[in-house]
Amino acid sequence: MKERIKELVALLNRYASEYYTKDNPSVSDAQYDKLYRELVELEKAHPDLVEADSPTHRVGGLVLDGFEKYQHEYPLFSLQDAFSRSELDDFDRRVKTEFPQASYLAELKIDGLSISLTYRDGQLVVGATRGDGTIGENITENLKRIKDIPLSLPDRQTLTVRGEAYLPKASFAAINDKRRENGQTEFANPRNAAAGTLRQLDTAVVAERNLATFIYQEAGETGFTSQEAVLEGFADLGFTVNSRRIVTSSMDEIWDFIQSVQTERDNLAYDIDGIVIKVNSLAMQEELGFTVKAPRWAIAYKFPAEEKEAEILSVDWTVGRTGVVTPTANLTPVQLAGTTVSRATLHNVDYIAEKDIRIGDTVLVYKAGDIIPAVLNVILEKRKQQPIMPIPDKCPSCQTPLVHYEDEVALRCVNPRCPAQLKERLIHFASRDAMNITGLGPSNIDKVYDAGLVEDVADLYQLTVEQLLTLEGFKEKSAQKLHQALSASKENSADKLLFGLGIRHVGSKASKLLLEKFADLDQLMQADTEEIADIEGLGNVLAQSLKDYFATAGAKQLIEELRQAGLNFTYLGKRASAHAALSGMTVVLTGKLTSLKRGQAKEKLESLGAKVTSSVSKKTDIVVAGEDAGLKLAKAQELGITIQTEEWLANL
Ligand code: NAD
Repeated sequence: MKERIKELVALLNRYASEYYTKDNPSVSDAQYDKLYRELVELEKAHPDLVEADSPTHRVGGLVLDGFEKYQHEYPLFSLQDAFSRSELDDFDRRVKTEFPQASYLAELKIDGLSISLTYRDGQLVVGATRGDGTIGENITENLKRIKDIPLSLPDRQTLTVRGEAYLPKASFAAINDKRRENGQTEFANPRNAAAGTLRQLDTAVVAERNLATFIYQEAGETGFTSQEAVLEGFADLGFTVNSRRIVTSSMDEIWDFIQSVQTERDNLAYDIDGIVIKVNSLAMQEELGFTVKAPRWAIAYKFPAEEKEAEILSVDWTVGRTGVVTPTANLTPVQLAGTTVSRATLHNVDYIAEKDIRIGDTVLVYKAGDIIPAVLNVILEKRKQQPIMPIPDKCPSCQTPLVHYEDEVALRCVNPRCPAQLKERLIHFASRDAMNITGLGPSNIDKVYDAGLVEDVADLYQLTVEQLLTLEGFKEKSAQKLHQALSASKENSADKLLFGLGIRHVGSKASKLLLEKFADLDQLMQADTEEIADIEGLGNVLAQSLKDYFATAGAKQLIEELRQAGLNFTYLGKRASAHAALSGMTVVLTGKLTSLKRGQAKEKLESLGAKVTSSVSKKTDIVVAGEDAGLKLAKAQELGITIQTEEWLANL
C-alpha cells in the first residue's frame, strides 16, 4: 500500500510538472484524474501514510525561471471535483446541512489557466499566474497584451480579480498549423497553448495570439453579496464575463444545465472541461470556508473524457506547402465527442519516436480544440509484436531525400519544385482568406497542375478558356466561370495577395496590418526590417522572414510576373487615417442594438478611426446607447459624456 502511494505521488508530481511548468503533458487529464482519484481513496483509507509532497495537499504549479515571483495577497485555490451526479448530491447535502436555503450559481469551467489581476487607483498594476497558489509569476506585461483585459477601470477602484485566460479554438488551430509548417512542436491543447503563450518572454508573441479572458471572482474584501452580483458588476466594469449560467437551489436543474451545456460544448468557441457550481451567497461562502486546497463552497463537475481507444491501421505521410511532411494515422473508426473518427494526427517524426507509436498499436485518441483528433499515447499492454514504425527517407511526392534539421521536430522535403508543395501553395493562394478564387479548389488545382499548365501562382493568370476546356470535367460554362474568377481576383486588395504568397509567419491578419501601414506591395518591399518589426503585434521574426523572402530571386521574378499579369498591388481596405470621422476618439457601446450586431457596430466605429472600449470613464468621448442601457449610460450622464443613439451610428 505504502509503495503504491509513493508511486502515485511520484507519478502525479511528474505529470503536474509536465503540465503546469513545461506546458507539455504526456498523459491526458482523464488519465491524470484517474490516478489522482486512486491516491485520494488510498489516503482516505490510510491517513497515516499521506506523503508530505502529496499533490492532494497542494495547489499544482510552480514558478518558472525568467519571471519575477509574485506573492499573492490572497491565495488562489483549486476546486474539488465531481465526476457523477451522486457526488454533486453529496456536495449539495453538505452545503444544505449548514444552509438549507442555499442556492447555487452554475457556470462554465473554462479550460485555460488562472490569472489574477490587481488594479490600484483604477490602473492595472499586476497580472500574475496562480503558481502554487501563494506565489505565482508576474506576467503583467504579457497580460496587458490581451485585448479584453481593461488596463484601467472607471472610478479609480482598487481591487484584485480572478479569472481564466484561454485561447479560442480557432486561434489554437491556426497556431498549430503554423507551427507544423515551421517544423515546430505543436501544442497539445488550447490550455497548454495559452499557458505557453503567457509564459513567453516576448510580449509581441502574446499580442499575436488572440488570447481572451473570462473573469469570475473578486479576491479579498468585496462589496458584492452574491456570485451573480459579482458577474454582473464585473461586466459593468468592463471585464469579459461568461453569460452562460444559471442560479438555482435545485440539483435537478443544475444536472439539466450540465446536460445541455455538454451538447453545446463542441460549438463553443473555446474549450471547457466542466461546470463549476458555487454557493451563490458570498456570506455563506465565507462561513463554509476552505480545505487546504479548495473552497468548501464550490465543486467542479468534470465532463467525461473525450478520448477513445482505436487501432492504427496504416499511416499516411503528406507534404505541406513549406515542405514539412506530416504523418496521419488511419484508425479503426471510433465515436468521439459526437463524430466518427477514423484519422488522427501523429504530429511529426519526433513525436512518433518519443511515444514509440507503431502500426497495429492500440492508441488513445482525443479531440483537443482541433478539428483533426490526435493520438495521445500507446496502450502498451495491448501491444502485440509490431515492429518500430517505418519512417520514410524520401519525399512521398517527388522522392527527394528528406531532411531532419536538428532544431526541428519534423521531416522536410527541401526540393522547391516538389509537386506536392507547389500544389499546396496553389491551394493556399486560391483559398478563401487569400485570393478567394471560386472554382479553384484542390481537385481543379490537381488538374491544371497535372496537365502541365500551371506550376506557380503567376501561371494561373496565363490560363486560357481553351486550355481549361482540354481538362476533364470542364465545359464551356465552367471554364468561362473559372477564367472570370481568376480575372476578378486581380482586383483584390493587396493584403489578400500578400497572404496568398504564403510567406513564412505572414498570416492574413499580419498581411492586413502590413498593408494598412505601407499602402502597397512596392512600399512594403522597400521597408526596413525595423519599421516592420515595430508594428504592434508583428515583431522581428516576421520582419526578417519577409525581408528574406523579398530578397530571393524567385520571389522577385514572381512579383514581376504578377505585376505584368495586371494584379492590383494596392491596399483597398480602410487605412487608419487622421481624417477619419472619429479618429482618436474612444467610444463605448451599451444596451441592446437592434439594427446592427455588436461586432458590426464595433467594426464600423473602428473603421472610422475610433477605439472601442467596454468601460465608461473620463477618457470616453462618446457612449452609443441602445435599448435598455443601464449602468454605463447612467455613468456617462454623470460624467457629462456625449451620448448618441444607434440611429446616429447607422447614419455615420
Ligand atoms: P482544476 O483545473 O480542476 O480546477 C481549478 C481551476 O479551474 C481554477 O484554478 C480555475 O483556474 C479554473 N476555472 C475555470 N473556470 C472557472 C470558473 N468559472 N470558476 C472558478 N474556477 C474556474 O484544478 P487544478 O488544480 O487547476 O488542476 C487540476 C486538473 O488539471 C486535473 O484535474 C487535471 O485535469 C489537470 N492536470 C492534468 C495533468 C496532465 O498531466 N494531463 C497534470 C496536472 C493537472
